[in-house]
Amino acid sequence: METVDEVDAPQVRQCPECGAAIAVPARFVSWCAACDWNVDPSAPDPERGRLAVFRRRLAMRYGQQLAEEIERNGQAADQVGPDRSTVLAFGVSLLVHSVTMGLLLAAGALIIGGWHTRILPLFGVMLLVILAALLPRPGQLPRHAPVLYRADAPRLFELIDEVAAAVGTTGVHAVVLDTTHNAWVRTYGIRNRRVMCLGAGLWEVLSPQERVALLGHELGHFANGDVRSSFVTHGALQSLARWYAVLLPQPVVRLVYLCWNALVFMPRWAVYGLIVLLDGLTMRASQRAEYRADAGAARAGSTAAAITLLDRLLVGDAVEGHLQHESITAPQANGGSRDRETREAAEQALWERLAARIGSIPESEYERLRRVSAQRGHSVDDTHPPTHLRRRCLAAAEPQPARVVCDASRAQSIAAELAPARAWLARRVIRYNADY
Ligand SMILES: [Zn+2]
Ligand SMILES: [Zn+2]
Repeated sequence: METVDEVDAPQVRQCPECGAAIAVPARFVSWCAACDWNVDPSAPDPERGRLAVFRRRLAMRYGQQLAEEIERNGQAADQVGPDRSTVLAFGVSLLVHSVTMGLLLAAGALIIGGWHTRILPLFGVMLLVILAALLPRPGQLPRHAPVLYRADAPRLFELIDEVAAAVGTTGVHAVVLDTTHNAWVRTYGIRNRRVMCLGAGLWEVLSPQERVALLGHELGHFANGDVRSSFVTHGALQSLARWYAVLLPQPVVRLVYLCWNALVFMPRWAVYGLIVLLDGLTMRASQRAEYRADAGAARAGSTAAAITLLDRLLVGDAVEGHLQHESITAPQANGGSRDRETREAAEQALWERLAARIGSIPESEYERLRRVSAQRGHSVDDTHPPTHLRRRCLAAAEPQPARVVCDASRAQSIAAELAPARAWLARRVIRYNADY
């Protein structure tokens, strides 16, 4: 059986372009650091929709502008007040909300004003029902994922509180875990409680100090206040998304659907236009928020950890590939053990194998991925600034020491708290991919 820590000693060959000596690692791409020969041999990113391409281009442009601004001022662009596009976004959002208010008033007028007609109140009630379906509503906790509260994982929440204090905010109410190579924060429920999602595919491949940096980044979003999550703008985007879903054309099986499709054609495109407009207007502010959140990552976990955290974001494909590989090999390895403890231990080991696999990626491969990311403009998603620019900004700022330290014993007690969730997620990886 292949063990992950046996790093095969690379052979050496000559670069066909410039003749420099290059390593030929067994499991990784062979490339030339001197002339970039074969630096990006894989297929280009799959074709995306027009909107995704537009958003990505916008993200690249704003990301570049903001990075230059930050490098010039040496600061994470904190002092700058709301820019013109943020104010415009606020205006557009108010316009969207005023349509909702207008419909509400119309429903009231139909019911109260038309009471004597008997038929108008019926239309009023119908309008109210439609409105209720279209109103933005508070977020919810994901249903099919482990959710941890303070009592379930006191040491993890203690660490989150410490990081929160370091970046100037308070902790979260709940932590959700899933299998992705990702992390996020948002609010949920009518009391606007905070939830943080930690994807095991990312959390498990980070060093303890990189985890502190990750928490610093996520909690930094709360500390800085991202315009997208502000009630007015976020609510408007949510409303528009609901309107758009309702206005989708129907397959023409009856004449009435043809009439519906003709009727909703213009409103649908108007709503779509507003979504694109609002999205574009808030993107600059949300990119600024990402850079500022990165500053929070450095403040909490140190600049060095914040930078290597960004490197770990580049190995998402390797994480995905390994989890898929696990799903094929793990069911046999577990041997269908009936003993619960043996089975759980085998499931826990899935994450340890992933960490070992990712830990064995050599620095030369990270360097290659960094160059590819700069060439392709890799970012976590369409709206994030390109990862190489985020890295450059962190490196340009004054180096920060760690304000919160997560040592090995602390990391271990947190891992013990997460053990049941880790086993559950491992089961999910195995089953999901096996079904697939
Ligand atoms: Zn070369
Ligand atoms: Zn972020």
